Amino acid sequence: MWENWGKNQQSSAAIAFPKSLDDLRQIISTQETPRVVGAGHSFTPLVGEASRIVSLKDLPDTPLQKAPNDLVWMNANKRLKQLSPALGDQGMAFRNLGDINEQTLAGAVSTATHGTGETLPCLSAEVQNAKMMLASGEIIDTQGDPTGELVEAARVSLGVLGILLEAQVSLVPKYYLRRRVEMNHLSDTLAHMHDLWANHRNFEFFYIPWSQRTLCIRHDLADGPKGQPPKDLDNLAVYGLRFARLLGRLHPSLRRQALALLSTVQSDEDYAEESWRVLCSQRNVRFVEMEYHIPPEAAHDVLTEVIQRTELKHPDIFFPIEVRKTSGDNGWLSPFQNGRRVSIAIHTAVTDSFASYFEDIEPIFLAAGGRPHWGKLHSLEFSDMEKLYPDFNRFCSLREQLDPRRKFLNPYLRRLLVGGIS
Ligand SMILES: Cc1cc2nc3c(=O)[nH]c(=O)nc-3n(C[C@H](O)[C@H](O)[C@H](O)COP(=O)(O)OP(=O)(O)OC[C@H]3O[C@@H](n4cnc5c(N)ncnc54)[C@H](O)[C@@H]3O)c2cc1C
Repeated sequence: MWENWGKNQQSSAAIAFPKSLDDLRQIISTQETPRVVGAGHSFTPLVGEASRIVSLKDLPDTPLQKAPNDLVWMNANKRLKQLSPALGDQGMAFRNLGDINEQTLAGAVSTATHGTGETLPCLSAEVQNAKMMLASGEIIDTQGDPTGELVEAARVSLGVLGILLEAQVSLVPKYYLRRRVEMNHLSDTLAHMHDLWANHRNFEFFYIPWSQRTLCIRHDLADGPKGQPPKDLDNLAVYGLRFARLLGRLHPSLRRQALALLSTVQSDEDYAEESWRVLCSQRNVRFVEMEYHIPPEAAHDVLTEVIQRTELKHPDIFFPIEVRKTSGDNGWLSPFQNGRRVSIAIHTAVTDSFASYFEDIEPIFLAAGGRPHWGKLHSLEFSDMEKLYPDFNRFCSLREQLDPRRKFLNPYLRRLLVGGIS
């Protein structure tokens, strides 16, 4: 039985572990709907509902291969936590990363995984070329496409154009980041958030429901390591927030007092380390998530409304609301296509029910023209996506051309990507 990290997707399909490209070709040709899994960290049903789940972790490794202009070919099916130290050993690094590095590179780019930074694009935008196995078993290299359109489409492709084997990624020389973390008042953070994004390489914040306080995280370039990272208390803090919720059930003021106490316990952080060590951390308390990418000018009002509605109608929510910004790119299905977006993410613990909360908040995101994260929960279908993505129909036609038998489409992906064509 396969289950994703968030425990909201299961599948009874057997998992295949091909050991060679011929094995993989054989699986694709004999299975009705083979779906490749990366690290299983998506919350949407991209992988389940398959006739066979395919993990590529046993395929022979391919070494890092440098090309001019800080471009490097790498195994797309390695985890980011394996790639970052290997790149660091060669004096290179990813320009930016998200909160964690458990994902495979292929899984992360396929859903437009992003970090935060006014001038920093999502990981998919860093892919300059890719080698993929198509549904026919043929292996193609996007370098052979003189129009450059194939790679624009493949950057964010949900595993439906082909199976990514290797990616040529645009990197930067290895760098260090100084991390500063402090608590601030929500009103101050909201008033200055766009300045903070403009003035720091990476900036993000977490709003702690019912506290009127935000945990603000800034990263800036540093010369080298400095100071010691404090003990990672994030997971402990989540337990504290859950305990505050329990007190709130006795009386709302008890919750506010507990949160005020908790925010004094949160010590300010200030240290510098190699970039990937600073950007990524571990998430041990499991949650389920919805995240929408909002036009920046709407972010203030959307966030204010999300907070008001959460605190008015959803007293059980205790997970912080995360807010980040990502620069634009040109991937056909990139939520950041044609300009920057502010990403607002809401969460519930895996043990709590998420449906009524997410259903209540999602219309706020949609009214502002938000695009959902492809790997995080949303309720949108074909007709909605057509309106949100100028290149959506172009992507769907290319998918049909590359996989006319629709092998890579499970029922969820058919609803999302086939719509009226079926
Ligand atoms: C704790 C946690 C923290 C997260 N933090 C962030 C964050 O900071 N920023 C962010 O944007 N997202 C974040 N996410 C979401 C996550 O990055 C994405 O859902 C990502 O797609 C997961 O990668 P994966 O390797 O687990 O891929 P999976 O979830 O296993 O698969 C994702 C998609 O990629 C496809 N795929 C996988 N391998 C291949 C391949 N070789 N070829 C073609 N298609 C392939 C799959 O078929 C599927 O469609 C987080 C998720 C969790 C659970």
